[in-house]
Amino acid sequence: MNKNGLSQIGTERIYRLFELAEQELEKHPERSVRYVQLSREISKKTRARFPDELKLKFCKKCNAFIKDGYNGAITESGGIANVKCLGCGFERKTGRKSRA
Ligand SMILES: [Zn+2]
Repeated sequence: MNKNGLSQIGTERIYRLFELAEQELEKHPERSVRYVQLSREISKKTRARFPDELKLKFCKKCNAFIKDGYNGAITESGGIANVKCLGCGFERKTGRKSRA
């Protein structure tokens, strides 16, 4: 398998894991964290680029799936998103580039 094929599969798995993380967030937050961890490992192993839209949805420090208004706050201004995790208090900024 070539490199592009592998990273494409990686991206698909990342999306799938984020769907699961969102579904499990309220009932099983610990599973949700595990899914985020897995997706980050997959991104590293397969060199899949982490999708911009998903970069906003987790905490880099505690790996929580972040849902705006539930366990986090996502605000945006001037193309820069500010993601705050209410679980651990970690806050970070991430650029959201529009796809050319
Ligand atoms: Zn956190």
